[in-house]
Amino acid sequence: MSSQAIHDPALHILQTVFGYPSFRGQQADIVNHVARGGDALVLMPTGGGKSLCYQIPAMLRDGVGVVVSPLIALMQDQVDALAEVGVRAAFLNSTQSFDEAMRTERRVRNGELDLVYVAPERLMTPRCLDLLDASKIALFAIDEAHCVSQWGHDFRPEYIRLSILHERFPNVPRIALTATADPQTRAEIAHRLQLDDALQFVSSFDRPNIRYQIVEKTNARKQVLDFINEEHPGEAGVVYCLSRKKVEETAEFLQSQGINALPYHAGMDMSARTANQARFLREDAIVMVATIAFGMGIDKPDVRFVAHLDLPKSIEGYYQETGRGGRDGAPADAWMAYGLQDVVQQRRMIDESEADDTFKRIQGAKLDAMLGLCETLNCRRVRLLDYFGQPSGPCGNCDVCLSPPVSFDGSIPMQKLLSAIYRVEQRFGAGHVIDVLRGASSDKVKQWRHDKLTTFGIGSETGEQEWRAILRQAIALGFVLVDHDAYGSLKLTDEARPVLRGERKVQLRQYQKPVKKRREAVKP
Ligand code: ADP
Ligand code: ZN
Repeated sequence: MSSQAIHDPALHILQTVFGYPSFRGQQADIVNHVARGGDALVLMPTGGGKSLCYQIPAMLRDGVGVVVSPLIALMQDQVDALAEVGVRAAFLNSTQSFDEAMRTERRVRNGELDLVYVAPERLMTPRCLDLLDASKIALFAIDEAHCVSQWGHDFRPEYIRLSILHERFPNVPRIALTATADPQTRAEIAHRLQLDDALQFVSSFDRPNIRYQIVEKTNARKQVLDFINEEHPGEAGVVYCLSRKKVEETAEFLQSQGINALPYHAGMDMSARTANQARFLREDAIVMVATIAFGMGIDKPDVRFVAHLDLPKSIEGYYQETGRGGRDGAPADAWMAYGLQDVVQQRRMIDESEADDTFKRIQGAKLDAMLGLCETLNCRRVRLLDYFGQPSGPCGNCDVCLSPPVSFDGSIPMQKLLSAIYRVEQRFGAGHVIDVLRGASSDKVKQWRHDKLTTFGIGSETGEQEWRAILRQAIALGFVLVDHDAYGSLKLTDEARPVLRGERKVQLRQYQKPVKKRREAVKP
């Protein structure tokens, strides 16, 4: 124990109970604030060390710390890990027997626990609220607090009701924690949980050891296989896919190629899912192929890569998923293959959803921001951190910094593309428009006599992949939209007009064949 720790009870607990020499980042400030009875809203990236921010104050204060968490599946592990270091913890959720719950309730009432983890729906029951009334409570910790946000990606209706905690227990300090919240979501959390007066602790979102890389999608399965074989043979990683079917196909494919891959998605039965998750956590070198159902709260430090075979819906999602890599601080890769079809598919999912117009508009804006990150000519990290309201400089550890894309004045090709869309009367999809540009006499081209158009073949010098890249940028720049009410036909927006008239110049990213990554030391 350091001499300092003798005078600092929080540090004393950190060292003697948890065995860590010092606090990280803002942990000490947060712990002291909450231990003194203050409310806090903590934004800290995944792996930043949020748990200690409520665990230590709970131990310093009289009574039991009540931790609200939606991650029922993890409660047992959390409680076991705490028991191992001698912290008295238990949980209350639907997976346990009545007797077990009774036992835990008794321990809460008798003040025999430092921490109790409770699922939000459980907490709201009259029985549980009565129990809390009859017990001494050190604090409430609301984990995964972004679940209170309807615009977030993990909305849980039970979270809205958590404002009751403040009303019913006004003198108990509350700490809300999340790893994901843009400034709007942050405001919404503060508002809905009545934490307007809480001190906000916003940590840096930078994960300097993660190298961001976004490549052109050609054959995603083959690309990810090459990526794993070349960059991460025998290492643990996660491969995210959009659909359950694709998860299964990709896992099978990787297995057939000698990779130790396992599937994970919400459509699998519970026991198979849990078994795969347990293997991923305990064994080395498992590649988990999963939908986004996988990963919330997973604490595996040595995940060396996170690959996306499909475009995430938002930067928050991308950040959170990629954030599961490199939690031990050693270099990790965030690798994504992305193509035009992703944009079309995500737009369709938004358009076809049952949600109201406001929600669709927000989802659309989030997707646009994600596209902007994919198509950026500048450092990916700068773009990413900027999204979370954090200014920074070029990182030297992303594909853009390491091999800067060449940009060129793409006004002419952009005009060609836009006029081709216009000439086919905005009634056709990407494949057909590109055929017309390239002068390909497909059956459809002949059928519609599009080989007679003035735009037919005006882009024959440019390859199909390059046209797709230009079209993606046209969508990202907002000149073109994909209309799903009209079978994915491409439509021009008002923004397209100045480009067509030659009044607006357009810088485009030069199409590049995917380049091999150089392995070099991470900048400190
Ligand atoms: P989060 O909930 O923010 O994702 P955790 O609380 O699970 O992060 O912590 C991530 C990892 O960092 C855990 O393995 C934890 O034990 C470790 N950790 C947290 N704080 C410290 C610290 N001050 N010193 C060393 N390791 C720490
Ligand atoms: Zn960079």
